[in-house]
Amino acid sequence: MSRILCISCQRPQKACICAFTANIENELHVVVLQHPSEVSQTKGTIALLAKSLSSCQVIVGEDFSKDESFLRIMTLFQPVLLYPGEHAMSLTNGGMSQLSCLIKNNDGRSEDAKKLCLVVLDGTWKKAYRMYKLSTYLQQLPQVCLPDYLANSGQYHIRKVARKNALSSLEASCYALALLEEGSDSFAINPDNAGKYQPLLDKFLQFNQFQLSFRPDH
Ligand SMILES: [Zn+2]
Repeated sequence: MSRILCISCQRPQKACICAFTANIENELHVVVLQHPSEVSQTKGTIALLAKSLSSCQVIVGEDFSKDESFLRIMTLFQPVLLYPGEHAMSLTNGGMSQLSCLIKNNDGRSEDAKKLCLVVLDGTWKKAYRMYKLSTYLQQLPQVCLPDYLANSGQYHIRKVARKNALSSLEASCYALALLEEGSDSFAINPDNAGKYQPLLDKFLQFNQFQLSFRPDH
């Protein structure tokens, strides 16, 4: 078997993800915090997200409370955490104005000067919870989550998880960005139409089918 790596995605040619990437100019910067155990398990989902968005970074770790490179990046932005915690605000269409309220309420002043940044945790629910608990910094960030009708709409077939709220980080990020950047009174984001993020969700479906074709039981 050839071990030659694709020069673009650095993955073995057999597992090259380049055919499944989309080209999307996202307004909000995205920082994905990836649990170390996901790096080998993620099947390239986060690589696909990072390669498709024009403004996205991936940092691997578990406890980010003292992670210097992460904290340095955070000083450049007004970060918002995508996490369904107890106090998370459920995003709606036109979420950007919702966010500015949340941020003002959070520290009593507006941070308009800084660009918003969406922080996403990539790991199983258990791993993401652990990252959240260890990283005290994350607990202090304004927190948003997806509304149920989007949170329960996942197409993630790789892991054998069939339950509510089992969206992949890629899908969750796309829907959150779509609500924030694209959604409005006249254009409501739904599971089949995430605005400019839909091409990536479509590619992701193809990507999943491609991954499934490697499984011996298919
Ligand atoms: Zn490639």
